[in-house]
Amino acid sequence: MTQSVAIVGSGPAGFYCAEAICKKAEHVQVDIIDRLPTPYGLVRSGVAPDHAGTKNVWRVFQRTARREQVRFLGNVELGRDVSVDELLERYDAVVLACGVTDDRPLGIEGAELPGVYGSRAFTAWYNGHPDFADRPPELRGPGIAVIGNGNVAVDVVRVLGREGEEMAKTDIPPDAMKVIEAADFTEIYMLGRRGPVQSSFTTAELRELGAMTTTVALVDAAQLPETVAMDDPKQKKMKEKIVGTLRGYTENQPDDKPKRLHMRWYASPIRILGDERVEGLECAVTALDENGRPQPTGETFVLEVGTIISAIGYVAPELEGVERSEWKTSYRNDEGKIRDGLWAVGWAKRGPSGVIATNRKDSTAVADKLLEELGSGKPGGAAMDALLGERGVRVVSFEDWERIDAAEVEGAEPASRRKITRIADMIAVLDG
Ligand code: NAP
Repeated sequence: MTQSVAIVGSGPAGFYCAEAICKKAEHVQVDIIDRLPTPYGLVRSGVAPDHAGTKNVWRVFQRTARREQVRFLGNVELGRDVSVDELLERYDAVVLACGVTDDRPLGIEGAELPGVYGSRAFTAWYNGHPDFADRPPELRGPGIAVIGNGNVAVDVVRVLGREGEEMAKTDIPPDAMKVIEAADFTEIYMLGRRGPVQSSFTTAELRELGAMTTTVALVDAAQLPETVAMDDPKQKKMKEKIVGTLRGYTENQPDDKPKRLHMRWYASPIRILGDERVEGLECAVTALDENGRPQPTGETFVLEVGTIISAIGYVAPELEGVERSEWKTSYRNDEGKIRDGLWAVGWAKRGPSGVIATNRKDSTAVADKLLEELGSGKPGGAAMDALLGERGVRVVSFEDWERIDAAEVEGAEPASRRKITRIADMIAVLDG
């Protein structure tokens, strides 16, 4: 009996799901489909360039991709080259591992002005994603506001706040680095609408903000709580570490380094100022109500910024025939099952939360359920190849990708790789 599964998306959630299927069911054929010719999803285009250690997890996924029962079908886009229904006609199960890729809208006056960027666009750009290679942000100062207090906001701040030697060995595209280094900003504002204790960044990431060579992290001691009140001892300890690290930053002086990172809390953006483009950001000073929600106090202030990057989370794009969850942060599912034969893993399943490792357990649990219910009798990969052949899609195999990979790494030193940022240039490596 042959059985086949198509996984849409080659990021961590998709690869962990493929690996779990392969380990439990050696006869199941797994096709991993990606709209880009390059695998690894957010490992390549989300994780910040200076987090090379985190990016190294690709080696684990490479082992899965090289398994006999696995194929990578790159440069194949769901919705453009094939629909969900067409996949379901060909495979015994289909897994959506395509993440949630749209920036959560800021929803305030002026949010459409030039100079406002979502973190998806910004992080994908500094990671050389082909969608953004020809759309560099215009980074204007004197200040840049980064809205949000999660690890994505921290990544954005670090990439803005580091330069020269600190980035030379990374895989940031030289064009992106040039844009950042040539920009005229000296102030970065990182804004939390609640307090320091409610921030969702983690301690290790926060500590890195204190170690940038050209940007000093500044914190106003008056914004920090004396003590952390929390029932859960583990959470309490973790938050105490956060506050302790922030307290260390209160000693820093504005002229310690050429650029300053101002970490501010109880600041909720309410209006973006400017006629033609961003000229400022008006924020409401907030206080937390009895439910811990930020409420405006009536006091406001304006930051003199020429650029705004909102890092406030993501929503799932519309996908024909698949319903989204109430807040559009994932595709509606029950423990991974969307409907018979159709599954979701990763952010598509649970929304934009968790680190890479979170996906291992999560995807394995979905793979287990999927295998319990897996039918048989669908034609599988051969029928998919026929369909893509009819449509003239230039499918990029894993072996093809390894040639692109070699071209990126060769001669890249001191950088770890020179990413090819246009799809046509990737295909040219293969087809000349
Ligand atoms: P996140 O942790 O959910 O942070 C989103 C931030 O945006 C929160 O501070 C949130 O504040 C704020 N926010 C939401 N709506 C807002 C609004 N309208 N106005 C102002 N602020 C608003 O999400 P994320 O940073 O996008 O990260 C996604 C996931 O990827 C997380 O699990 C993260 O840990 C992970 N990640 C990990 C790493 C790493 O390990 N180094 C790197 C990047 C991402 P409230 O809390 O008040 O809602």
